[in-house]
Amino acid sequence: MPSEIPAGAAALAAAAKAAAVKAMARVVGKPAESFKLNAAKPENPSLCPGCGERRDPGAIAKALKTCPHCGFHYRMEPAERLAYLADPGSFEEFSANLSSLNPIDLAGYEEKLSAAAEKARMKDAVITGICSIEGRKAVLALMSFEFMGGSMGSVVGEKVSRAMLRGLEEKLPVVIYTTSGGARMQEGIFSLLQMAKTSSAAAELDKAGIPFFTVLCDPTTGGVTASFAMLADITMAEPGALIGFAGPRVIEGTIRQALPAGFQRAEFQQERGFVDLIVRRQDQRHIIARLIDLHQPGCIPAESPEERS
Ligand SMILES: [Zn+2]
Repeated sequence: MPSEIPAGAAALAAAAKAAAVKAMARVVGKPAESFKLNAAKPENPSLCPGCGERRDPGAIAKALKTCPHCGFHYRMEPAERLAYLADPGSFEEFSANLSSLNPIDLAGYEEKLSAAAEKARMKDAVITGICSIEGRKAVLALMSFEFMGGSMGSVVGEKVSRAMLRGLEEKLPVVIYTTSGGARMQEGIFSLLQMAKTSSAAAELDKAGIPFFTVLCDPTTGGVTASFAMLADITMAEPGALIGFAGPRVIEGTIRQALPAGFQRAEFQQERGFVDLIVRRQDQRHIIARLIDLHQPGCIPAESPEERS
């Protein structure tokens, strides 16, 4: 919260956020506890990592790439997300032509970029645009893990910042789906600087009172977690998503202690206050539309009977 906001306004904003989160928790179909998953990678790739049932690709695709038995959320790419999030034909991409240079002259980086572009069929690890979600206009940014592990280099930082500034300019809510291994090592210090750039764009949104929502997807780690992913007004996560800065193996190796079950999973992070809501893929479209409504000026979420008592 910026220092110029008086304490009363900050308390009011915190209360409004708490009310919105409570209101949304009632809209989300299932309690978060139902999605506690066995995070261990399956020995057999034809079995579901969540419940061990045999994978049925047809049924999984029909359930938006989730397991029809246990709700395990498989990773998704931006094109697949667009298909279930945005109203049909509403997505208009911007900043589509930005592509990365090789700012620190790293040998082989250009080749890596072209291989990644071919694999993910994108120019870099994020797409940005304006779309409508259940009829509500919003700026939407979707990250890809297929493109060099969703790493944030200068293009990702620039596109994410431009998306936020576009929201500011057009007074549109900004929704960002994150998935990332962190800063892109191949661009050295230039990648690290994107943390400051995206964070200052998020601060501009905050100052102007433009709603900003993130949905943290598996995995969201490193410099993306440590910058814009955690700066939203409402931080959502997909069930079972790994969310952290350093990964569990690095932490275990450093502290030489066994980590608790479910460490850094969305449910673990929600219990510790890093995540506001865990939202199933099937509910995301509706929840985002409701959140946009709840953040319109003058909208006060209705209190539930138990809150009044
Ligand atoms: Zn399953």
